[in-house]
Amino acid sequence: MSSSRSERGLLLVVSSPSGAGKTTLCNRLRREFENLEFSVSYTTRAPRGGERHGVDYYFVSPGDFDEMIARDELAEYALVHGNSYGTSARRVHEALDRGRDLLFDIDFQGGRQLRRKLPDDVVLVFVLPPSLVELERRLRARATDALEVIERRLRVAREEIRHYSEYDYVIVNDDLDRAYEALRAVYVAERQRTRRQRGAAEAVVSGQGSLLMGAADEGAQEGR
Ligand code: ADP
Ligand code: 5GP
Repeated sequence: MSSSRSERGLLLVVSSPSGAGKTTLCNRLRREFENLEFSVSYTTRAPRGGERHGVDYYFVSPGDFDEMIARDELAEYALVHGNSYGTSARRVHEALDRGRDLLFDIDFQGGRQLRRKLPDDVVLVFVLPPSLVELERRLRARATDALEVIERRLRVAREEIRHYSEYDYVIVNDDLDRAYEALRAVYVAERQRTRRQRGAAEAVVSGQGSLLMGAADEGAQEGR
C-alpha cells in the first residue's frame, strides 16, 4: 500500500526476544506499506553471513561508535549481548519531518530512550513467543545459530520478556497470520491518530478543494 503525506511520520518500535518472529512480522509489514522504512542501526558487532553493510546494519569499530556518542549523533544506544547498537538521530528527525514512518528492530533499552525523547512520535510493540518451549523450538528450527548461542539467547530471553509491560502493545506470535493482522492493525490505527491527521482534517474543515463550497461561496457573493 502506498501513500504520500505531509503529516509528521511515526516511529514504530518492535522488540522481542530473538526467535519470537519479529523479523518475519516486520518484513511483511514493510512489504505491504511502502511509506514504512527500516531504521538501519549502527553496531560494533561483526557481520553475520549474508548481512550487508548499510542494509542490515552499519558495521563500525568501537572507536567510531564512541565518537558518534561523543558528537551526540545517536538518538538512542545500548549495550546488547556485549556489543554496542545505536540509532542515527539525524535519520530519525529527517524521517519524522518528511512524513516517513520508521520501523525499529531495537531492544527495550532503545525503546525506552526513544519514548523519553520523542513521546508523541513513538509507538512501542512487544512480540512474545507463545511459550519459552516454542521459542527454543523456533531457534533450533531456524538453524542459524550454534547450540551455545541458542542457549545464551534463551537465557537472555527470560530477562527481556519481563519488559513487555513497558510497551504500548503486546502481540503473542502464536499463529503467524493472526499475529501479523494484529501488528498491521496497530500500525494502521496509530496512523489515524488525530495528531497524525491534523493536516488532512484541517484541509477538509477549511473547505479547501471543494467545488460545491466554492459554488456556495460564489452564490453567497452574487446574492449580496
Ligand atoms: P526474530 O527476528 O524475532 O529473531 P524470526 O522472524 O527470525 O525471529 O523467526 C524465528 C523463526 O521462527 C524463523 O524460522 C521463523 O520462520 C519462525 N516463525 C516466526 N513466526 C512463527 C510462527 N508464528 N509460527 C511458527 N514459526 C514461526
Ligand atoms: P542482533 O545482533 O541479533 O542483530 O541484535 C541483537 C539485539 O540488538 C536485538 O534485540 C535487536 O533488537 C537489538 N538492536 C539492534 N539494533 C539496535 C539499536 O540500534 N539499538 C538498540 N537499543 N538495540 C538494537
